[in-house]
Amino acid sequence: MAFELPELGYAYDALEPHIDARTMEIHHGKHHQGYTNNLNNAIAGTDLEGKSINDILTGLDMSNGAVRNNGGGFYNHSLFWSVMSPEDKGYLTGELRDAIEAEFGSVDAFKDAFAKAAATRFGSGWAWLCVHPGGKVEVCSSANQDNPLMNGVDCGGTPILGLDVWEHAYYLNYQNRRPDYIKAFFNVINWNEVERRYAEAK
Ligand code: MN
Repeated sequence: MAFELPELGYAYDALEPHIDARTMEIHHGKHHQGYTNNLNNAIAGTDLEGKSINDILTGLDMSNGAVRNNGGGFYNHSLFWSVMSPEDKGYLTGELRDAIEAEFGSVDAFKDAFAKAAATRFGSGWAWLCVHPGGKVEVCSSANQDNPLMNGVDCGGTPILGLDVWEHAYYLNYQNRRPDYIKAFFNVINWNEVERRYAEAK
């Protein structure tokens, strides 16, 4: 069973003005579709075919560049679309809020740490909020399409919130102003989904 491009669950223009429709259309329809196709081609006929994407990434031989890049790209973007919403999707509450306050001191301090991880990732990559077994949370970043589930990525646990900081994610609307894009991202986070992922992974 080949991997399929997941649907967004909202229209390409639904996240405007924070993320523009043209960027969303190209990002989902071209970039994510490309990672999906290339992942399917890379695993066809190998022992990875038929495995879940989580199993593929957690057990991955990191010298397998095609699966590392495209499997990461498939997973990372699937998570990214799901943790954004055009509607008001709650406010950080409950167990996840408690875990964030325990680790960072306050929600604002967490946002600063996440924004810093996203802003200081040189070149292309992702900023993450991850959860470790027991519920402890961590903010980190990874290069290219690497993912915290992979071995040897200096960023661990299960990712529950991710922000794409590749230029393709923001350049049409924000050009070189990555910090403005990061700030805008906080307006479209689907906290209900992030909290659901936290409860599932902790
Ligand atoms: Mn991307």
